[in-house]
Amino acid sequence: MGRIQLKQVQKKFGETEVIPPLDLEIEDGEFVVFVGPSGCGKSTLLRLIAGLEDTTAGNIEIDGEDATDLPPAKRGLAMVFQSYALYPHMSVRKNIAFPMKMAKMPEDEQKRRIESAAKALNLTDYLDRKPGQLSGGQRQRVAIGRAIVREPAAFLFDEPLSNLDAALRVGMRMEIGELHKKLETTMIYVTHDQVEAMTMADKIVVLQAGVIEQVGSPLELYRTPRNKFVAGFIGSPK
Ligand code: ADP
Ligand code: MG
Repeated sequence: MGRIQLKQVQKKFGETEVIPPLDLEIEDGEFVVFVGPSGCGKSTLLRLIAGLEDTTAGNIEIDGEDATDLPPAKRGLAMVFQSYALYPHMSVRKNIAFPMKMAKMPEDEQKRRIESAAKALNLTDYLDRKPGQLSGGQRQRVAIGRAIVREPAAFLFDEPLSNLDAALRVGMRMEIGELHKKLETTMIYVTHDQVEAMTMADKIVVLQAGVIEQVGSPLELYRTPRNKFVAGFIGSPK
């Protein structure tokens, strides 16, 4: 399960209101993209959902349970960081196992999950290598593997491809899309790149200055942008 509901969620840093109270519903299994220009609050919104930031007001429900005050580890969500967050001295296997080791999961269950994640990500032949012996795309897949083994209710991605070159980014978008099809797990993906949003999303959330300008499928946003900002950002002819 991975249904996430935000109810009048607000975020202030000191006196500055970065996110005025907003409502948002994410259905189980959806691929949702938060898109908008730099500084519009995409990362903050994702971090609020992850529990890495406290809400100033409002409630976050995960699968119908109030998660507003739960610490990140208790929310059942997995944040996928950029691949540079890997441990360079550890093998791929150990990097992927790390969150399970921290959770003191039984060894045989760890092994089962590592093998299943490696298979899903085509990393089976690379488990004994170190990150330095992998390509950029393979490293990013290891970072995703580390999230998969937690079997989360949802994956949260914050611009995971922004330090990859253009060709690799295209490949990784397809990898992530394929993974979403295989796992059918909710994914929330943050990007400032409208092409990424339009090609990957079931549902796009367009943000400007912490305000949701529009929520809809890529085609809905393209055909019926609600205002000039959405039209301009999405590249709609209207
Ligand atoms: P985005 O990810 O869309 O680029 P962010 O969510 O990182 O935007 O930032 C939204 C706004 O909140 C920006 O104006 C940023 O400067 C501000 N902000 C983010 N984190 C903090 C923080 N820890 N303290 C103060 N202001 C912050
Ligand atoms: Mg950001």
